[in-house]
This record gives sequence, structure tokens and C-alpha cells, in this order.
Amino acid sequence: MKLARLGEGPEIFHTIQGEGVSVGMPAVFIRASRCNLHCVWCDTDHTWNFTGTPWPHQKDAVPGYAKHQKEAVTFEIASADAAERILTFRCPRTVITGGEPLLQEAAFLEMIDHIRQRQPEHQFEVETNGTRIPSPAFDAAINQYNISPKLTNAAMPEALRINPAALTYFAASPKAWFKFVVAAPEDLLEIETLCGAHAIPQQRVLLMPEGRTSADLDRHSAWLAEVCRDGGYRLSDRLHIRIWGDKRGV
Ligand code: SF4
Repeated sequence: MKLARLGEGPEIFHTIQGEGVSVGMPAVFIRASRCNLHCVWCDTDHTWNFTGTPWPHQKDAVPGYAKHQKEAVTFEIASADAAERILTFRCPRTVITGGEPLLQEAAFLEMIDHIRQRQPEHQFEVETNGTRIPSPAFDAAINQYNISPKLTNAAMPEALRINPAALTYFAASPKAWFKFVVAAPEDLLEIETLCGAHAIPQQRVLLMPEGRTSADLDRHSAWLAEVCRDGGYRLSDRLHIRIWGDKRGV
């Protein structure tokens, strides 16, 4: 499988889940390299914004920022080896994130099978952009989906970022939770429209303030809390940002 590289190894690390319904739970994170989207504000652009790709990114304006050399930010590893690395943490939960993990469904399924042979109760969450329908075998192996459909603010054509069939599939899954990053009040109407169009239940929707610092999160949280209270959504914080800041590998 192709994972993001962190230092000399793959991006696999033991931390706590900082967002969504499992917030606060100890978990091992494993980050897939490669994504089928190219969100302009993506904070894991090392998984897809490679030299030679045409996609714009917010960081283009930051002095010294350059697209990533694909080989330098990719770590290829056998599924069984990734599983063994995860098992060393003796943690009962793994979050498969990315990039877009569903692009490498077969490899992750192999990894899951390997871990479950040793820890049958191990729980797996998958963080996905919600554009791909998982296979029945993959679906059966997963305990929880954290779906983050992308809005207009990701600066991509709707046909690329929204797959109606996939959203309808996840809306009907009892394992799926939908998480939207909200940067401005105008995002809310779009979320409401999307949920209505795909029968996404409000009680399974989490709104999360956009922000890469505690100050940013605070600024957006106050008004977003009122939106959640009045609209029946859940509010999600970004606990890892508050604890460790905008750092990789924690
Ligand atoms: S879908 Fe996720 S990983 Fe892919 S570009 Fe968007 S934010 Fe980044």
C-alpha cells in the first residue's frame, strides 16, 4: 500500500482521535497517500499535491512552499507490515485516514484481516471524502465511517466532489457520520441542501469549525454552537489542534 511518509517511516502514529463522534478515544492513525480530490485548503496536501500536478493550493502564496516530490512523501509498505506496526501500539482502535483511503480498499482490507486475526475486537474507523462506495467486504470489516463531503469552498467542480450515489449509500449506513468543516455562515445553506438532497439524517451530522489554531477554533465555535443547538446538529471540536497545534504525527 502507498502511505504518506513521516520521517524515515510511514505515517502511522498513536494518538487520540481529535474530531468527530470518537473524539478523545486513543487510536492509531494510518495515513493513505493519494487522493481523488484536490481541495484548495487541504491540510494533508503531501498525500496528493505532487510536482507536475496542475492543482492550486492555498499554500501556493506562502513563501517557500513547493509541491511535493511524490517519491519523497510516499512510503510503500506491505499490508501485513503496516498491520504489525499498528499492533505494536497495543491500541484497540485504528483510524484509516488520508488522502482518500478508499482508493486502496483491497490493501487496507488485507491489513484489517491481519490485525483481526490477533485482535478480533479491534475497531476500525475510515475517514473518507464520500465519493466512493465501498465494496461489501470492506463495508463488513469497518465499524465507523467519518464522511467529509466537500463543499464549494474546496474550489472544485461539484461533479468531482459530490457523488450522489455514494452519499445516498452512506446516508443509509448506520456506521456513517458526516463531518463538515464550516468556514463561514454561507456554508450552512449548502450543508442543509446537501443533507436534504441525499437524505442524510441531521442527528448524524457534525459541524466542525475551520481553524488551524485554538484562536481560530474559538472564533468560529461560538456562532457554530448556536447553529448546532438550533439546527439539531452535533458540534465537533478539533482537539488535536488545541493540544498539539497544526502538527503532523500527533
Ligand atoms: S478530500 Fe481530504 S485529503 Fe483529499 S484533497 Fe480534500 S481534504 Fe485533502
